[in-house]
Amino acid sequence: MNTVTRRSLLAAPAVGLAANTMNGEAGKPALLGGKAVRTGRFPAWPVFDQTEEEALVAVVRSGKWNRTSGANVKRFEETYGRLTGAKFCIATSSGTGALQSSLAALGVGPGDEVILPPYTFVATLNVILNMHALPVFVDSDLETGLIDAHKIEGAITERTAAIIPVHLAGSVADLDSILPVAKKHNVAVIEDTCQSHLSEWRNRKAGTYGTTGCFSFQASKNLNCGEGGAILTNDEDVYRKCFAAHYNGNMTDFMHGTKFCITEFQAAMLLAQLTRLEQQAKTREQNAQYLTSLLREIPGIIPARMHEGCTRNAYHLYMLRYDKEQFAGLPRAKFLKALHAEGIPAGSGYGPLNKVKYLKNALHSRGYQRVYSSQEIAQLEERNHCPVNDRVCAEFVWLTQNVLLGKRSDMEQIAEAMRKVQKHAGELVNA
Ligand SMILES: *Cc1c(COP(=O)(O)O)cnc(C)c1O
Repeated sequence: MNTVTRRSLLAAPAVGLAANTMNGEAGKPALLGGKAVRTGRFPAWPVFDQTEEEALVAVVRSGKWNRTSGANVKRFEETYGRLTGAKFCIATSSGTGALQSSLAALGVGPGDEVILPPYTFVATLNVILNMHALPVFVDSDLETGLIDAHKIEGAITERTAAIIPVHLAGSVADLDSILPVAKKHNVAVIEDTCQSHLSEWRNRKAGTYGTTGCFSFQASKNLNCGEGGAILTNDEDVYRKCFAAHYNGNMTDFMHGTKFCITEFQAAMLLAQLTRLEQQAKTREQNAQYLTSLLREIPGIIPARMHEGCTRNAYHLYMLRYDKEQFAGLPRAKFLKALHAEGIPAGSGYGPLNKVKYLKNALHSRGYQRVYSSQEIAQLEERNHCPVNDRVCAEFVWLTQNVLLGKRSDMEQIAEAMRKVQKHAGELVNA
């Protein structure tokens, strides 16, 4: 720190006392050979200790490894249900399995339409295609990056069976608009809460508003057991159907299913990881709020807006919009490269899901062609243009949740690196 400060003072003797804002900014960008704002690593993920090791060993020694023989799955379901305030919880093998079981429970199949946002992980789309239903994309909102809820009603037809709003990054989609529209048209809502553990809408947990809420416990997620998921519901009939759907129809003689079962190993890991979740969520939230206050001061860095009803954001990701016009036209890819050189691991996020090649392939597959006319498919492809989302995909920048698990000074360095890149944007454009 001292040597850095001294060097900076030599380079810019008139600067005042704000050492942490001047040492990096005054110097050359790291991408052009200067000194990086930061060389330390951000907190590692996952976080674990002996608690996890002992929990796993206990399952091994018990010899009870699946959900019907052991007690961990049941305990996790009760604990997670209580934590979220949901009446029923079914742990599954993945978030994808949770979503697909929900669609199966609702009887979604060939001929149905399902509404989803185009700015989400591929699984939200895949489960719809797996049921041979039609995915109908509703455009994103530029400020939040979430589904533009005001455009949902216009996308509903007599074939619409479900809406899957995604609480992307932990930021809750506009449920005040979505729920009444769904109710009016008698369409089910499946909340994709795969990124929103402990997120809240009007002080109630995300995932408890829809017919189901579907969580993921995959390795990158804020609650992690390697691979895993859960379905929340308050409806006993839906609970029974979801259970059947995820367990080869078990418990019923009226419904078949597939197998998306969680194991005792995963549930034991989840119970251990759950002991850290609330504290980690608090840390992320505090750091994210501080980061937002810092980034608001930088022209061209626009932190993603949250809906007013989102009373808690899980910050699985920290999302912002990058306006290159405020950075001398520096393209986003180069902005990210310059940030990486400064020691800040920012990423570019999702591409437009409505434009992926496998969607076209699926819609023109033999199975789809038997169910839908080529005119229907052509009309769907016309409806699925999402021009705002194209901008979201081109302009958004992400930081992952582990970046928010460290200190306030980490947030200051993120802001400092962005200011430094901005200050030298002209040189970086031409470099
Ligand atoms: C992770 C994720 C999923 C899928 O969860 P898996 O556990 O990986 O199957 C679905 N939707 C979103 C938005 C996700 O982030």
